[in-house]
Amino acid sequence: MQESSARQSAISAVTGWSSNGTRLNFKETPARSLFGVNVFSDDVMRARLPEHVYKAIRKTIKKGLALDPGVADIVATVMKEWAIEKGATHYTHWFQPLTGLTAEKHDSFLSPTEAGSAIAEFSGKELVRGEPDASSFPSGGIRATFEARGYTAWDPTSPAFILENPNGTTLCIPTAFCSWTGEALDKKTPLLRSIEALSKQALRILKLFGSEATSVYTTAGPEQEYFLIDQNFYFNRPDLLNAGRTLFGAKPPKGQEMEDHYFGTIPERVLACMLETETELYKLGVPVKTRHNEVAPAQYEIAPMFENANIATDHNMLIMETMKRVAGRYGLQLLLHEKPFAGVNGSGKHVNWSMSDDLGNNLLKPGDTPHENAQFLIFLAAVLKAVHKHAELLRVAVATAANDHRLGANEAPPAIISVFLGDQLQDIVEQIEKGGAKSTKQGGTMTIGVTVLPPLPRDAGDRNRTSPFAFTGNKFEYRAVGSSQSIAGPNIVLNTVVAEAVDEIATTLEAAVAAGKDLNAEIQALLPKLIAESKAVIFNGDGYSEAWHKEAEKRGLPNRKNTVDSIPDLIGPKSIALFGKYGVFSERELHSRYEIFLENYIKTISIEAQLTAQISNRQILPAALRYQSQIAESIANLKAAGIAAPKAQVDLLTELSGTIDELRTKTLDLIKTQEGHVDGDTLAHAKHSRDGLIPAMLAVRAAGDKLEGIVADDLWPLPTYQEMLFIK
Ligand code: ADP
Ligand code: MG
Repeated sequence: MQESSARQSAISAVTGWSSNGTRLNFKETPARSLFGVNVFSDDVMRARLPEHVYKAIRKTIKKGLALDPGVADIVATVMKEWAIEKGATHYTHWFQPLTGLTAEKHDSFLSPTEAGSAIAEFSGKELVRGEPDASSFPSGGIRATFEARGYTAWDPTSPAFILENPNGTTLCIPTAFCSWTGEALDKKTPLLRSIEALSKQALRILKLFGSEATSVYTTAGPEQEYFLIDQNFYFNRPDLLNAGRTLFGAKPPKGQEMEDHYFGTIPERVLACMLETETELYKLGVPVKTRHNEVAPAQYEIAPMFENANIATDHNMLIMETMKRVAGRYGLQLLLHEKPFAGVNGSGKHVNWSMSDDLGNNLLKPGDTPHENAQFLIFLAAVLKAVHKHAELLRVAVATAANDHRLGANEAPPAIISVFLGDQLQDIVEQIEKGGAKSTKQGGTMTIGVTVLPPLPRDAGDRNRTSPFAFTGNKFEYRAVGSSQSIAGPNIVLNTVVAEAVDEIATTLEAAVAAGKDLNAEIQALLPKLIAESKAVIFNGDGYSEAWHKEAEKRGLPNRKNTVDSIPDLIGPKSIALFGKYGVFSERELHSRYEIFLENYIKTISIEAQLTAQISNRQILPAALRYQSQIAESIANLKAAGIAAPKAQVDLLTELSGTIDELRTKTLDLIKTQEGHVDGDTLAHAKHSRDGLIPAMLAVRAAGDKLEGIVADDLWPLPTYQEMLFIK
């Protein structure tokens, strides 16, 4: 053991790992008693706030009414006392800038007094508004340099919580983050706007159906996939450490082809880690529900119960952060990247999405009465119409450099956005289109609004993995979302495109009713039209097949193969009109996001390119050269002993030397490509990254991976796929 000792000792460290005793005891502390203990929840508020204050805040939360400053002061005082009882010394406005992460700046509760001591101070002013220095967060040109400030504004609809650390706790207040000119610099602001937009439009339909609901919100339940590998390997892989994915690594003899990992027994250390992660999440009021192994080795999934999309978005950020934090306690590293290992399944996030009214009715649940079913079909048709009209925007919402490795790679949905309905609903939709609405699959005759829809079977698991957007019984599953992404973006797009479709449908129906027409008859006339208009987007077949790509093209469905092709749709006329009309994004905000997303793409590829060159030059090349001299030396030794060098050995040396030459040449090409001057704007740069850097990186990798198959194991510097994926 010599040159590659780092890798070898990583292996020893892994095999020497042992749990540091029991950390949890659910007999003493049942999970139930932990749920929400660190949340400034409705229960806490009801118990602690004066009644009129509690009522005022409830109104704000339920109906989005502005909060009276006097009320905010009282809430702040009570929240502070509660937090200090929980050991908090600091508070932070917790927000989601466009970096895709969460941000926090901690302030102490303590303020100095004139007498020279300190008192704990935290008023409504501090609760409601913060002023982090915004200059280091991406703004895509919105924020002129002379006005670096932004402000955070309390979002009372997402509960405050306590973040624990071994040495103390912090009160975290979910906030929106805006520029002083009122433009959104974060993900929460447009999300809240989009939920409001949808609520307003959906209520119009509900009203036609005689509902007494007063608001509608979207629900989201994200199924989160992730990898866990031993931290010792992680720290020995500069690519994983800095780019979140491996930039080198030959395919191991055993990959996922045995299919023995999916739903298999969860390894003990991993399960221990999951249990502690879940416990932490319970305390934060995150309703995590399921856990299991995923398809790839070392890949897992965690899924919560669905919640209001705003809270679900915050909770998904907490899930990702908590998983990462707790994994470290078990010597594990969380990998959230969409494609940490080439040739092995990547990770996604199935975002289950639906709409609910404030009376608790799921608007995408087929009902038991003709009346309910007519309403269900209207909302279903609205979603179809929306996805058909704005497929490009659903694509933009999942476009990142990392997700490009998944989409269309025969493991995740293709980049073509289509809707899966399942055989039975498909059948019903076809019947409706023909006007007859006779569900042959079920036998019975069905006229919308007159008889009952047959019960729709819930989608049975994976049979339609290939669809990016699938109806699964009472909700849609948006499967193209990447594992590391915030779910805010996908939700914003869905909410807004559906708001528009619902708006148009409501307008037609309202006009008919105003003209004294029968609502039922009008719905019967409208549904076939809606379906005929958007049925091109419905596809129940195999999304991986070549035939679908051809068919989709014939149907005129957009196919944005990668991020760079997709992002310009964000500032296209359709997008500007849509988001502007519903007040979700101004044109300036869209342009800012366009710039930020492209810059993000460019930076990601640039970091990867630099890492590729670095690993090639400083780790792989030296190892290969050492091995080269070992072989050369052994051949020389033979010659010195008067033995002719065997051909196979000479051939090995030739092959190795050739591959070393290839590695070095391709690395120099990569460096040259990266240093090359690019004329033009951000889009031109992004194209250069895609068309210049990515192929150049792949060429270096090909040589590097070839060397991995040749160079002596004890000289190889990087933990291998085999080690990272199978040593648990
Ligand atoms: P599977 O997709 O594996 O069959 P489920 O359908 O039970 O599993 O649930 C997957 C996710 O969908 C869970 O997070 C669940 O809470 C969520 N979900 C269920 N109903 C809804 C809904 N109405 N709106 C949003 N998400 C939902
Ligand atoms: Mg699912």
